[in-house]
Amino acid sequence: MKHKSTNFETKCIHAGISDYEFGSVIPPIYQTSTFKFESAEHGANLFAGKQKGYIYTRMTNPTVEALEDCVAELEGGYKALGCASGMAAINTVFAAMLKAGDHVVCSSIVYGPTTTLLSTIMAGFGVETTFVDTSDIEAVKSSMRPNTKMLYVETPANPTLTITDLKAASEIAHSSGAKLVVDNTFLSPALQRPFEFGADVVLHSMTKFLNGHADVVAGIVIVKDEETYKHFRKVLNQLGGVIDPFNSFLVHRGIKTLYLRMKKHCENAQIVAEYLEKHPLVKWVSFPGLKSHPQYELAQKQQDGPGGVISFEVEGGYEAGERMMNSLTLCQLAVSLGGIETLIQHPASMTHASMGKEARMAAGISEGLVRLSVGIENPKDIITCLETALEESRKTIDAPAV
Ligand SMILES: *Cc1c(COP(=O)(O)O)cnc(C)c1O
Repeated sequence: MKHKSTNFETKCIHAGISDYEFGSVIPPIYQTSTFKFESAEHGANLFAGKQKGYIYTRMTNPTVEALEDCVAELEGGYKALGCASGMAAINTVFAAMLKAGDHVVCSSIVYGPTTTLLSTIMAGFGVETTFVDTSDIEAVKSSMRPNTKMLYVETPANPTLTITDLKAASEIAHSSGAKLVVDNTFLSPALQRPFEFGADVVLHSMTKFLNGHADVVAGIVIVKDEETYKHFRKVLNQLGGVIDPFNSFLVHRGIKTLYLRMKKHCENAQIVAEYLEKHPLVKWVSFPGLKSHPQYELAQKQQDGPGGVISFEVEGGYEAGERMMNSLTLCQLAVSLGGIETLIQHPASMTHASMGKEARMAAGISEGLVRLSVGIENPKDIITCLETALEESRKTIDAPAV
């Protein structure tokens, strides 16, 4: 009988299916679009759901299922649905849970395209959304309506790293007859498992920490019971945004080191955040592992670590930030996060440019805010790079006005 460990690092290696064909230790890549039936009767039974098996890769594929079962176990859910991207996962959740006339309460700071999806495409389908600062639980409570079907939360939020109390959020959602959906991309199940706090659906962009190697775009949705799973599976099959076998294999491979990577991301980010906080050219630093973070206590309670993402502001605003990013020697100027390499970007001109300045200001995303996804390099090298770049940014401040 299989020994089920409750230790996360063991789960990263053994979660999900353990028996593959030919005694293969690692899930084989079933790079096939379709599966042969043994007979006409066999095919009919598979379609009727009377027999378990594979029909067509958009419906399920053994390599994809191996990954899905692994992530479902890591999150403490029932089953998962592998998607082509994080956005495909979010679209699947919205299509499966919402219809015209429904209302959504969503964090005012979520992944940019999620905001746009709700305020354009979903609005066009007759779904109304109220964006609210979900770290303010009273504000969440007063935004709920009789037709609110979903409370959608990202915590820590990107890029301000404000934290939403998941237990309080789930209690509000449930007392209003709504479901709590959590985008858990920023921490991964290694550091936060929203089901433990009452979430109903958890989703990820696996492009980030779960895969962790900046070489795959993928997403996943995790649900808690069979009925929801069957409904979501039908919806995903109709929408069609499934992950493919090869990407599933890569993400599954990445997950084997999830525990190790997250541990190092947290350690490095803590060292870098403490360094930045003391730097005279840095105005402020937001990182859940710093005592100066307004929700430090909540982070300690809800998260198993601070995560690997830091945001901070350089003295000298937009120009100083720009100059800093043009002076990097190790950190790479790129969007995305959660990979083994340190990435840096400027939300006001990049990931959050489409929000517009007014909405950014309202959400606390200042013009000089810089987002840093701390990789697993030696932290001294990351600091050397930041030190040089910050010194360069000083030239903007020191330069005489012309
Ligand atoms: C990147 C990201 C997404 C979207 O994922 P893709 O894989 O790029 O589609 C969604 N949510 C969060 C928090 C993200 O960081």
